[in-house]
Amino acid sequence: MKRSSVSNTFSLVLGIVLFFAGLFLLLNQENVVAFFSSMFPNHESIQLAGAVFQVLGGLLVLNGTLRFATSQAQTREKENQALFYGLMHRVSLVEKRAAEVAEKVVSLEKVRAARDSLPESVKCRFCGAGIELGRGFCSSCGRSQR
Ligand SMILES: [Zn+2]
Repeated sequence: MKRSSVSNTFSLVLGIVLFFAGLFLLLNQENVVAFFSSMFPNHESIQLAGAVFQVLGGLLVLNGTLRFATSQAQTREKENQALFYGLMHRVSLVEKRAAEVAEKVVSLEKVRAARDSLPESVKCRFCGAGIELGRGFCSSCGRSQR
């Protein structure tokens, strides 16, 4: 990853340098002819060199840009994947919690059902009169039910 990003940067920089070298050659033909008269004997050779430099530079820039975009996309994808797995983990935690809560609701409902099924009154152990649930004494005979 690191090595490829270095080569991408190198490719981009080299491409830009070549492109501008070509542009410079095309724009400064007179000066270049005067300066490098042995290397570039006429305008046609300068124009050719400039065009070649620009094409090469353009290709390198394109290559570097594409590679850069690809590596960016891969990084994005990895980030998205990490985000996705993080979310999945969160979802599983929430599901676990929901299951726990559901279990508690079920046991609470059992307790309620048991409470609702209790008789509202019981009979006195001694005289048989009805006593409200929870009262310790018979209101009829006054004896303790405990
Ligand atoms: Zn009683």
